[in-house]
Amino acid sequence: MVSYKCFECNREISDTMLRKKVRCPYCGSKMLFKPRQTTTVVKAR
Ligand SMILES: [Zn+2]
Repeated sequence: MVSYKCFECNREISDTMLRKKVRCPYCGSKMLFKPRQTTTVVKAR
């Protein structure tokens, strides 16, 4: 699952919401970036 993040409102946008329009559905910003897909969860105990 590919998700983007809006540069303006910092919301996560899924790939299906974008379709062909690369634009934030929340604020309409075109500034989207792809966060790292490899999320490393470090459990420190
Ligand atoms: Zn936005």
